[in-house]
Amino acid sequence: MAKVLQQDGIHLLIEEVRSRFGPKAAITDRADVEPWLTDWRGKYHGDSAAILSPASTEEVAGIVKLAAERRVPLIPQGGNTGMVGGATPPSDGSALILSLRRMNRIRSIDTGLAVAEAGLILSSLHERASETGQRFPLTLGARGSCTIGGLVATNAGGTQVLKFGTMRSLVLGLEAVLPDGSIHDGLSGLKKDNRGYNLDQLLAGSEGTLGIVTAAALRLVPAIGSRAVAWVGLSNAQGRWSFFSSCNRRRTASRDSRSCPPTAWNSCLSTCLARAAPSRAAFVECADRGDG
Ligand SMILES: Cc1cc2nc3c(=O)[nH]c(=O)nc-3n(C[C@H](O)[C@H](O)[C@H](O)COP(=O)(O)OP(=O)(O)OC[C@H]3O[C@@H](n4cnc5c(N)ncnc54)[C@H](O)[C@@H]3O)c2cc1C
Repeated sequence: MAKVLQQDGIHLLIEEVRSRFGPKAAITDRADVEPWLTDWRGKYHGDSAAILSPASTEEVAGIVKLAAERRVPLIPQGGNTGMVGGATPPSDGSALILSLRRMNRIRSIDTGLAVAEAGLILSSLHERASETGQRFPLTLGARGSCTIGGLVATNAGGTQVLKFGTMRSLVLGLEAVLPDGSIHDGLSGLKKDNRGYNLDQLLAGSEGTLGIVTAAALRLVPAIGSRAVAWVGLSNAQGRWSFFSSCNRRRTASRDSRSCPPTAWNSCLSTCLARAAPSRAAFVECADRGDG
């Protein structure tokens, strides 16, 4: 009986969302829903009668309010590239997917700051930032599919995490819809904002448990002017330290060579040397040189 009532609530919610926000806001065609019921690695399988797909923050707020009234759980979903099944609905069909993919605009881009909607694909932000001589420094293998909202929700790291930190440290503010349907607007991007609790930072890494991220104010950094990559073999810790210090002193080379702190660098290098022992002779030996 409870299950029947629950399914009735789900179908009423789908109809309400459709009538208020139009046919695109509720996808029920099985062929369109099916691909989003399983995570990309095929490890987690779920079921859902529909994908709710709002086009604006107000629509997200409206849907969250309706879902709360009908007591229907929502599973936020971005690119569905997560590793732990957080974007997969439960297999009993008791929840609906809330996809943010239609909310994919860059609302503004300025020096050092971009405001992007939650459904924007990461690589689109990279492209847009580079057109302004800047870059968004977080990047990872899923950049062509994962979304800004998903990156915030998982507090993702990526290949430059040692230098720039996880997503949390690149978030200057968030807009989010809270469980009662109210809208939290933290998009001012102010660096100095010490008023009370920091809800934005609490939302980063919360995987949709505290609210639905709808947009983010993100830090941009200047684009890399030129890049040179060297693989350097050094025979001892002292040599590594003097090489690192020398790079640091040369400001032109130092900005990105500093992305790896010396301790991490040492252990990386030791791992490389241990695994690549036969090719060791090919490395440039420069530990003894005064200039590194
Ligand atoms: C090839 C590959 C390489 C990767 N490399 C790295 C790496 O180097 N470092 C690293 O940290 N991670 C890495 N990841 C994981 C990556 O961080 C996640 O895949 C990504 O952040 C998820 O984004 P998404 O848009 O696909 O979110 P989804 O997978 O759709 O969702 C992930 C979680 O966030 C929630 N969520 C999604 N959108 C919102 C929203 N708008 N509001 C609230 N909650 C939301 C979902 O409910 C779910 O719990 C990699 C993944 C892949 C596939």
